[in-house]
Amino acid sequence: MRKMITFSKSFFLMLLTMMGIASLSPSLVNPQIADDLYRIDITRITAVFDYYPEQYYVDCQTLVEFQMRPGQQRPVIHLDPVIRNNTISLLRLNNENLDFSSNSDVSILSYSDSSQQGIEFQRDLAAGLIHILEISYRKSLPSGYPRFSSEVNDLEGRGNEELFPTLNTPHELARHVLTFRVHSAELFRCIGSGLVVRDNADVQQWTLDTEREMASYTVMFVIMPEEDTILEERNIGGINVRVLAFIGGASINSAFALLETWLPELEANLGPFPMPHGLSIFLVSSGGGMEYYGGTISSLWALDHEVFHMYFACSTVNSTYRDSWLDEAIDSWYENSINPFYSPIAGDYRSNIVSGRTAAAVGFDRRAYNEGSRIIEAVARELGGRNEMIAFLRHVHSLYSFAPFTTLEFLDYLENYSGLNMSDRFMTWLYSADDTAVESDLGFYGPHQKVDMTPPELLLNKYGIHKKREK
Ligand SMILES: [Zn+2]
Repeated sequence: MRKMITFSKSFFLMLLTMMGIASLSPSLVNPQIADDLYRIDITRITAVFDYYPEQYYVDCQTLVEFQMRPGQQRPVIHLDPVIRNNTISLLRLNNENLDFSSNSDVSILSYSDSSQQGIEFQRDLAAGLIHILEISYRKSLPSGYPRFSSEVNDLEGRGNEELFPTLNTPHELARHVLTFRVHSAELFRCIGSGLVVRDNADVQQWTLDTEREMASYTVMFVIMPEEDTILEERNIGGINVRVLAFIGGASINSAFALLETWLPELEANLGPFPMPHGLSIFLVSSGGGMEYYGGTISSLWALDHEVFHMYFACSTVNSTYRDSWLDEAIDSWYENSINPFYSPIAGDYRSNIVSGRTAAAVGFDRRAYNEGSRIIEAVARELGGRNEMIAFLRHVHSLYSFAPFTTLEFLDYLENYSGLNMSDRFMTWLYSADDTAVESDLGFYGPHQKVDMTPPELLLNKYGIHKKREK
């Protein structure tokens, strides 16, 4: 056992600076570290996906526009290993063709504290210019039901690098323009983040444009057969809401009934709905949900939680995965704190919810949902109660949307707003170095329980798919 020591924030930062970036990794407290880790700043990702539903693959042509971050020369990007190792047909950097299997062109970087690998291109690039990376590849899809969709899992830290080249870190904001071309005699539907328009083309084609730079790991799209699905659009207080569900699946009416009260409440409390083209929902029959920019893939059970994330996670953004405990905690707290007897975290609680991971690590600590939510309740008590906390959240949302922040920066916003300094307590609650508590909810995924996109039995039969039986 070690004696408990609490640091003031400035002392803590000074100590970390003295220790260098290793050990406790102060994360993006120091922007230099983010620059060293991620090297590039993406401005725009353009992609054309030629989807062959009956053949279960997608031919992908992608183009990434980026600048080098300050002090950086060698670009690094993320792309799912399965894709890049086997199926890259074109790799071009600033109009120079590169060979993915040649060490003089490409090097694979591994990080001791992250499952994510980086692709480093062996070229030194100039500062202050837009550089262009083009990668074409074939992505195989699981055989079975014909669906092409995003499948981000922020708990495990899997982002959209499984679909296109990007940086799998929450603070990477980029504009995305994605074109989907479906090669099938069957009719398909497409919903997704931002503006989605049906194009006039030789095949069924849609273009998704996020129209602004937004967190790359929150881009959503879902493409599925029209015949198997229902898509209904309604306007709720000025917000266009599209709900897509399997025929014989989840109840679209129940989703709209929930949103008829939930959306106006969120707008009244937190401000105008953050996404100009409203909300696109793929409503699944069971499991949990995942939030995206202007969209969610969610069960009815998790829907209110995921829609709350439009404010905290999808417009305000945490800088790193490990800081993402914060938007989960705020989201959970909003619902938990309706109970007048909801209790705050104990003053002597200590954990490494944030400090247990480095800035490069993917995924976040599951204690966010329970202990994290009680930490937010402790902040609410200091501010005067639930309404006062909501007013502060509204303030943060209005000032810091699309401007990623860390846990410590959130504390700065709190102090600037109210004069309240909770640094010592946050250090104990979230940054204790010798935390011995195991994650209390390892089995509890909360609303982030695995997203289950399995179609109903009738559709499985239609496609001759035999459901795996759980034993
Ligand atoms: Zn969540």
